[in-house]
Amino acid sequence: MIIEAHDLTYAYGDLLAVDHISFSVEKGEILGFLGPNGAGKSTTVKMLTGQLAPLEGTAIVLGKDVSTHAKQVHERIGVCFEEKNLYPRMTVRENLSFFAALFDRAVDIDSLLEKVNLEKWADDHAETLSKGMQQRLMFARSLINDPDVLFLDEPTSGLDPISADQIRRMILEEKKKGKTIFLTTHNMMEADALSDRVGFINEGRIVALDTPQNLKLQYGVRSLKVKQRSGEGFTEETLPLDETSTPGRMQELLERGDVATIHTQEASLEEVFIKLTGRKLVQ
Ligand code: ATP
Repeated sequence: MIIEAHDLTYAYGDLLAVDHISFSVEKGEILGFLGPNGAGKSTTVKMLTGQLAPLEGTAIVLGKDVSTHAKQVHERIGVCFEEKNLYPRMTVRENLSFFAALFDRAVDIDSLLEKVNLEKWADDHAETLSKGMQQRLMFARSLINDPDVLFLDEPTSGLDPISADQIRRMILEEKKKGKTIFLTTHNMMEADALSDRVGFINEGRIVALDTPQNLKLQYGVRSLKVKQRSGEGFTEETLPLDETSTPGRMQELLERGDVATIHTQEASLEEVFIKLTGRKLVQ
């Protein structure tokens, strides 16, 4: 396993933000951590990357305890956080070369800029970039040491759809190269599209962890959406697949001869999340 969380726990004063969570991520896997604001996602990432020392439990990355081997772990991980921590008055290139100097290895800044499509803005100050470009710069920065593991905390939060898509494509490219990725998000479409497995986090606890498909099959209601011609227009009826009355009703509709289309419909991760927690992902 590349990432292991054993009973990780953290409290801010009396507030238990992360409550004894355990999971692991294997090589080349994207684990999506999906939960609403305040669920404990960022606190978990901070413990996994050594920015916060767990109150209880252990974070192990690449076989090393993050609390006791922070330096070795930092050499081999990349971190991209939601809070902007770029140097606004430095140029794009300077931001990267400044960060590259922290690592004991040669870095090809030009090819990194090319990878995130920022080569044309290399000499612009970071503060003049759009939010999407800044996020791409943050992403480039997280790749500077060619890390084996990437921790991405809400990497597309607040971005326009095109910028968010660009970031998602970049994440998938890194996965193709065999990198292991821990990704937090409150966007269920993103978690569904990118993750091999998704962990649902709510009030500091993992309430479910499985492949998106299994979560939807296990907790969701599969149904058929039947559109029928009705006068000049259409009416629509939803028939839950697992209900005993569905085959009879289906036959009735087909015999009547006014069925226009039939679609299968599976539950979304959002619906599954609501079913498990009673809460929406986005409040
Ligand atoms: P968000 O997407 O809003 O960042 P999150 O799932 O990442 O949500 P955390 O940031 O880990 O959640 O926060 C978990 C809980 O801990 C929340 O109730 C939050 O208000 C609280 N919290 C986070 N940081 C601090 C802090 N520095 N001091 C006090 N409480 C904090």
